[in-house]
Amino acid sequence: MEQCHGKTKAGDRCKRSASDGSLYCSAHAGQAGDGAPEPEAPEVADGKCGDLDAVETFVAVAALGVAIIVVLKVGRLFRL
Ligand SMILES: [Zn+2]
Repeated sequence: MEQCHGKTKAGDRCKRSASDGSLYCSAHAGQAGDGAPEPEAPEVADGKCGDLDAVETFVAVAALGVAIIVVLKVGRLFRL
């Protein structure tokens, strides 16, 4: 297991182990691409970003649909 490439708030190298398939531990996964450039950091392919956006859009649309159904059902209940 590789050491996390993230940095602590004090600016020191994180001493935890990186997550599988990542250069960062779970606490520092958000540091990927931030701060000093890490030449070893994996570049995220554009296609992968697009897929992620599509999934997020789908989840948002699905959540909106569920919210509309809930509002309709609640509205029907209050009318009874
Ligand atoms: Zn870390």
